[in-house]
Amino acid sequence: MGQSHPPFAFVAAAPVEAAQITDVAAPFCAVIGAGPAGLFAAEALARAGARVVIYEHKPSPARKFLMAGRGGLNITHSENLERFIARYGAAARHIGPLVRAFPPQALRDFCAELGEATFVGSSGRVFPASFKASPLLRAWLTRLAGLGVAVATRHAFLGFAGEGRLRLKGPDGAEFTRPADAVVLALGGASWPRLGSEGGWTELMRRSGVAVTPLAAANSGALVDWSPIFRGDFEGQPLKTVLLRHGDAVARGDVVVTRTGLEGGPVYALSSRLREAATQDGAATVFLDLRPDTSLACLTRKLSRRPAKQSHATFLRRAGFSRAEIGLLREAQPDGLPRDAEALAALIKNAPVKVTGVAGLERAISTAGGVAFDEVDGDLMVTKMPGVFVAGEMLDFDAPTGGYLLQAAFATGLAAGRGAARYLGLLRDEAQAGLSPSHLPKSRAPEASNKYSV
Ligand SMILES: Cc1cc2nc3c(=O)[nH]c(=O)nc-3n(C[C@H](O)[C@H](O)[C@H](O)COP(=O)(O)OP(=O)(O)OC[C@H]3O[C@@H](n4cnc5c(N)ncnc54)[C@H](O)[C@@H]3O)c2cc1C
Repeated sequence: MGQSHPPFAFVAAAPVEAAQITDVAAPFCAVIGAGPAGLFAAEALARAGARVVIYEHKPSPARKFLMAGRGGLNITHSENLERFIARYGAAARHIGPLVRAFPPQALRDFCAELGEATFVGSSGRVFPASFKASPLLRAWLTRLAGLGVAVATRHAFLGFAGEGRLRLKGPDGAEFTRPADAVVLALGGASWPRLGSEGGWTELMRRSGVAVTPLAAANSGALVDWSPIFRGDFEGQPLKTVLLRHGDAVARGDVVVTRTGLEGGPVYALSSRLREAATQDGAATVFLDLRPDTSLACLTRKLSRRPAKQSHATFLRRAGFSRAEIGLLREAQPDGLPRDAEALAALIKNAPVKVTGVAGLERAISTAGGVAFDEVDGDLMVTKMPGVFVAGEMLDFDAPTGGYLLQAAFATGLAAGRGAARYLGLLRDEAQAGLSPSHLPKSRAPEASNKYSV
């Protein structure tokens, strides 16, 4: 491997004036991965005047994005930008400038342009009005096709062939190479591998001398051995506005009872602690406060009003407790609910649930770890691999659920796409950096035909 010209180096096309770019002369950029990060990078590149093909190994694009849509698609969050950026923890100093360049409001505007109005939920989270990803994705793919972006599905990226060529495997299983002037890698993390992102790229990057923080499950559900009765009766039921406590860590919100345990924002927020504790001690106990806004004293007073002849379950139901909540209390105290009002109130405020572990990568919402930020420049180009850019969950960041993951996918996708366009000599005028159709180079119309060979 030559020091100054590694085999994967992509040689930038000689810069040309944007006005001189024609479809034939335009530099070619391959984007690998049709998730939100790859699609957004592709859009930025096409708008800057590049020819773009997105290679995606699954039969259809953005499967994880669509799966996120099943949960309502929490696309971003409305909180103050500083607090928003702090959610990225150690990676905030790297992700921060990119989110500032494409903040939550810009993402909401992007959705609106595609016909999907967004709204702020009571938790401050932002959702599309349809609560789905499919209408947004459909409109987006149509717009990308109009910009001349081709999406080559069933095309797997295998690595680099040297001399600026990619190794790919087509739908017929045959391998081929394809030259590119630049490439954006947006292959995702390794959670929910059946949706497409499998993390197989880590070895490829390491072999190229690029530091990759080991991938680990993040935002995982908690595993609980429910009794068959509880599981049978309450699988899929929500426990609304509860407070979860593990040691000195607390998290509040809605959780859902699943076949294997508990899912939901507060569970995900505590998942790395629970994993550590369960690995160390074989299990961890998490305490649920089912009435976090009512004090123990107030709850005790209310429970002492139970008529002597009324059962606890009937009284609790009349007091507004759901059947799942009462079931959970029974699960926590299988030998019967305490008769004493204060003891029952204490159980409601501190119901122990034994967690045997947390879900692995196959079911985690996101992936921690990835390409170290020290390995990329401000344009997200891998410094050891000139012309190769990285976006989305491949990067080494972790964030809680709440819209921060998708916001980062979009912001890093845009940064990598613009970075690649700059590398190709296409973006020297900041006016061209916008994502609005009025920012297109004059010679490249949005209706440019989708005629690039894959
Ligand atoms: C169940 C679930 C719900 C979620 N809900 C939310 C939510 O509400 N809000 C939120 O912010 N985040 C949510 N997320 C997380 C969010 O979906 C991801 O962070 C986001 O999709 C990451 O985008 P990405 O483009 O980096 O990667 P991905 O979306 O994973 O896309 C990567 C693409 O690369 C393709 N690919 C991988 N390897 C190859 C290869 N060798 N060759 C060709 N193509 C390849 C994959 O098939 C995939 O299409 C959720 C995740 C899950 C699993």
